[in-house]
Amino acid sequence: SINNKIALVTGSTSGIGLGIAQRLAAQGCHIMLNGFGSDAQIAQARSSIEAFGVKSGFHGADLSKPAEIEALMKATEGQLGPVDILVNNAGIQHVSPVEHFEVAKWDAVIAINLTAAFHTTRLALPSMKARNWGRIVNIASAHGLVASANKSAYVAAKHGIVGLTKVVALETAQTGVTCNAVCPGWVLTPLVQAQVDARAQHEGVSVDQAKINLLSEKQPSHEFVTPEQLGGLVVFLCSDDAAQVRGAAWNMDGGWVAQ
Ligand code: NAD
Repeated sequence: SINNKIALVTGSTSGIGLGIAQRLAAQGCHIMLNGFGSDAQIAQARSSIEAFGVKSGFHGADLSKPAEIEALMKATEGQLGPVDILVNNAGIQHVSPVEHFEVAKWDAVIAINLTAAFHTTRLALPSMKARNWGRIVNIASAHGLVASANKSAYVAAKHGIVGLTKVVALETAQTGVTCNAVCPGWVLTPLVQAQVDARAQHEGVSVDQAKINLLSEKQPSHEFVTPEQLGGLVVFLCSDDAAQVRGAAWNMDGGWVAQ
């Protein structure tokens, strides 16, 4: 059981990260939250965790900065204890053809969506290995398995994190630590709402029509995946039954990559 385990979920002030954090809290995990947001948003996120009768912590590390990631890991250990479950979820998107892609945006997407997971993993692993138990779950994307135009940095970072997942899984294969990736399709979070809004404007259609257009292009179910469903998959990957699931890139995408 994962009751009483310490879980760090990066980028958990909103969207998928918050949904995963809540599902882990429902299983009795104490949760370290991270991400950006107003004081009110962070207080609300923490109380939604503590409603499950577990402890919460918060650290606002900017994951594009390695020194802040080190501070996040120290704060987690100080406030809650060493990390048992690490969910690398924080991520950003930027959409542009490659020849016009802003260099600073490329660097930011790679830093937050890929390099941050290298840092949290290298810092969390020694203690996981010493205790011979740990779960690392990287939130990749359908874009970790297949590409779309205009998302060069995102697709590169997400393919990269699937690769990192496999390497860490091999390096921990004979321990009680596992490392897996989850590959969601479209989930209606602020990150995707921005793409829906851009689409509505660009195509001159309503926001509802833009949602349908967005889904029907890639996601055969024509339905969004939810943060709660992804939380359920992460809970499974953290369970004893998943002890031999190692190095998987598990899609939950309404059929996106089956095509
Ligand atoms: P979101 O924008 O709702 O949430 C992103 C979270 O990351 C927020 O808590 C934000 O504050 C945090 N964050 C952003 N930059 C950060 C930084 N520099 N340092 C620390 N925290 C930072 O996005 P989401 O849709 O919930 O995305 C979560 C993850 O799921 C991302 O890795 C994303 O690529 C992935 N994903 C999302 C979808 C989707 O359809 N929404 C699909 C596949 C994969």
